[in-house]
Amino acid sequence: MQKINLLGLTLEQLKLKFLEHGLCALDAKRVFPWIHTKLAFSFDIMSDVPLAVRKILKNNYTLARPKCSVLQKSSDGTQKALLEMEDGNSVESVFIPDARRTTVCISTQIGCAVGCKFCHSGTQRFIRNLSSSEIISQIFFWKAEKSITNIVFMGMGEPLLNFENLSNVLSLLLNKKAHNFSRHKITISTSGIIEKAITNLAKFGVKLAISLHASSDEKRSFLMPINNRYPIKMLLAAAEEYRKSSNTSCVTFEYLLLRDFNDTEIDALELARLLKSCNCKVNLIMYNNWPGAPFFGSDENRANEFSRTLLSHNIRTLLRKSKGIDILAACGQLKGKST
Ligand code: SF4
Repeated sequence: MQKINLLGLTLEQLKLKFLEHGLCALDAKRVFPWIHTKLAFSFDIMSDVPLAVRKILKNNYTLARPKCSVLQKSSDGTQKALLEMEDGNSVESVFIPDARRTTVCISTQIGCAVGCKFCHSGTQRFIRNLSSSEIISQIFFWKAEKSITNIVFMGMGEPLLNFENLSNVLSLLLNKKAHNFSRHKITISTSGIIEKAITNLAKFGVKLAISLHASSDEKRSFLMPINNRYPIKMLLAAAEEYRKSSNTSCVTFEYLLLRDFNDTEIDALELARLLKSCNCKVNLIMYNNWPGAPFFGSDENRANEFSRTLLSHNIRTLLRKSKGIDILAACGQLKGKST
């Protein structure tokens, strides 16, 4: 019989699972902090859990984490891990340090069905959702050696298409008796699955980043086929609704700068016009090449001009520096391995 991985279970789910094997709620209450605050690798060290209970735990459950088959280190301090799941599939997960924070970028699916043209992950066909244990175990992996201040769900996959498992993970990350992250330190990035964002995600109050990448439906649909279902007008309305219902200060729009495709002065002016009455922030992202990528990134001058144009129209704009480019760990460059 396959053992159940406990890493991704909330306390309530743990209590229910334990009942199935004759364990009680108190056992679950004792085990929970060992998993999430002491990051225990084994049931053996759970000193306040009776020996007989530990035996049942060992026979039926596991705290297994994915194996790291490759760890790459960038010259800028970024690290990328290829983490192998039990079924042989693997995903990439990234640690990004900078002067003020340490961020980890987490994957939620093996492959991705959304198929954005600019994205390396999107070239790997969708295999399956990661379980909540597989998602949170990426955080366990980094936490074992490093302290983490911020978490972004921007790795492989569309997080909101794996909402049930994501939702478990968010509950655990925000739980004061588990990982105790502030909701302001967690960002979910979406290609624009907006009804899920508003109806389900808003209750967690975490930050939302929507991949916009174009100021016209024509260009966005070319880059992201999902735009045919959720066009820009719907995204803007949803962003405002999310801001209100999640009680966050603003929603971020991500905008990849693609040379001669969406980075001209006209593009910047159109974007400024589109967002002028929106309570939002724009993250401009330098496009990072990967083998076979169909676009080139903007040069620095063009990116700076684009940023200046938005700022001159009072759009809150941040031109983000990419990190980990030399190890293909930057935005849109991740790719796992599927069996
Ligand atoms: S950008 Fe995100 S949603 Fe689009 S293909 Fe890549 S992983 Fe999937």
